[in-house]
Amino acid sequence: MSIEALKSGLEGLEIEENPQIVRQKSRDFFWYSPVLKKQLDDVTADLIVTPKSEADVIQTIKACYENDIPLTVRGTGTGNYGQAMPLSGGVVLNMAGMSKIVKIGQGVVVAEAGAIIANIDAACREESSQELRLHPSTYKTATIGGFIAGGSGGVGSINFGGLRDLGNVIRLRVLTMEAEPRVLDMTGEDLQKVMHAYGTNGIITEVEMPLTAAYDWVDVMVAFDDFMDGVRFADALGNQDGLLCKEIAPIAAPVPHDYFLRHQQFLTPEKSVVLCMVAPFAMNAFDAFACRQKGAEIVYRSDQADEDVKKRLPPTYELAWNHTTLRGLRVDPTVTYLQVLYPFPNQIEKVQTMYELLGDEVVPHLEYVRFDGKVTCFGLPIVRYSSEERLNEIIKLHEDNGCPIFNPHRYTLEEGGMKQTDAVQLAFKKEADPKGLLNPGKMIAWEDPSYDYSSDQVFLFPGLQRD
Ligand SMILES: Cc1cc2nc3c(=O)[nH]c(=O)nc-3n(C[C@H](O)[C@H](O)[C@H](O)COP(=O)(O)OP(=O)(O)OC[C@H]3O[C@@H](n4cnc5c(N)ncnc54)[C@H](O)[C@@H]3O)c2cc1C
Repeated sequence: MSIEALKSGLEGLEIEENPQIVRQKSRDFFWYSPVLKKQLDDVTADLIVTPKSEADVIQTIKACYENDIPLTVRGTGTGNYGQAMPLSGGVVLNMAGMSKIVKIGQGVVVAEAGAIIANIDAACREESSQELRLHPSTYKTATIGGFIAGGSGGVGSINFGGLRDLGNVIRLRVLTMEAEPRVLDMTGEDLQKVMHAYGTNGIITEVEMPLTAAYDWVDVMVAFDDFMDGVRFADALGNQDGLLCKEIAPIAAPVPHDYFLRHQQFLTPEKSVVLCMVAPFAMNAFDAFACRQKGAEIVYRSDQADEDVKKRLPPTYELAWNHTTLRGLRVDPTVTYLQVLYPFPNQIEKVQTMYELLGDEVVPHLEYVRFDGKVTCFGLPIVRYSSEERLNEIIKLHEDNGCPIFNPHRYTLEEGGMKQTDAVQLAFKKEADPKGLLNPGKMIAWEDPSYDYSSDQVFLFPGLQRD
């Protein structure tokens, strides 16, 4: 790998070679996982390129292609599976310089891939009282391109499902990693080729996303003495046809009290909560709904809070999704988490079974979503970590009880997902990245087609052992 030859091809572009900055920009939230922390801590790129335009990206692709240098795209590095980490070194392509909002129309926004999600919403709200349908809890920091290439869903998924659902992404402009890069405008079925592919088979430069009506969402915290009452409340709320919510997340005691430090004033260690974001016009209906439900006590609502109190509190979405774990890690760095699906229609029973089986070792945190058109929940439980062996036992217990795990302690697409080859993504990689230079080591189907997903063996990318 000749970095000097590469650099002559990058002339005129913004390049960073300071080893400390390069290392910092080569990292994401991989350290969430004690397993990934051990494996990836030494990973670093050779240099960072920050393109300002599609022409800059094309120049970078050509230089890398000619010199056989790996290229890993980076949004803002908030992924927590090590997705954005350059396992074989080379170039990290930092999309921060491509953040323009290109066009806002009725129901649609077009933006460059490096635009921060909250900035897209701010522009859409100002110009048209619209907002994106869904966003990760890293709303204020993550890029839209990184969300599409590395994320799955989040706040708003209770109404619209996940990114994988048809219609939640309209169009992606994608560059291939070839001697003469092609510029593809992908829509419809083609989108599956590059969505959630960790940037292994194309570089997204521009996105077109659907919009919905924007509201000043009311943050509400409903407390329960019995966590399972909270789960039944959340399930029933998710199934209300007329009551508009953007977020519904039951979290078991003692997590809310122990980890949501600025909300502690509303809680005791025994209280479980359901976090909600409710449309302002629906608050009377929400009150009526809460009165009907067993054990529900509204302990906080932002529309009635004192301005001084409100100012000091993080928004509800920054307590939810992976922010719950982040807040946990700040209080107790030894905890970690899992990602679970509790399949419809037995989600409540399955949550209860796992809760009874694992107790305080795996404290439930659920996120209600629409999944294949049905209201059900994902889990991002807090795991009191003792060892990798025990973590694997906990994973197996979930799977044995019919609760699939999307393992956040693996850096490959397959092991973090459905543990099978995605033939569509693999076929597109063969075509769009023939030299295998894009984000090496993340797609097992490319690296080792004979890999047996049913074995207990963990895939270890040989390229990680660099000189
Ligand atoms: C506290 C916390 C909360 C989170 N909450 C959520 C959540 O609610 N929902 C959720 O889905 N995720 C969540 N995540 C994961 C992550 O924040 C999101 O998926 C986020 O959208 C990633 O955006 P990013 O810009 O940081 O991408 P990065 O982490 O920089 O990149 C993610 C992946 O996409 C690739 N990539 C980035 N940009 C491009 C591009 N332009 N073209 C091709 N490939 C590209 C990268 O190579 C990498 O593989 C959370 C993470 C943390 C730490």
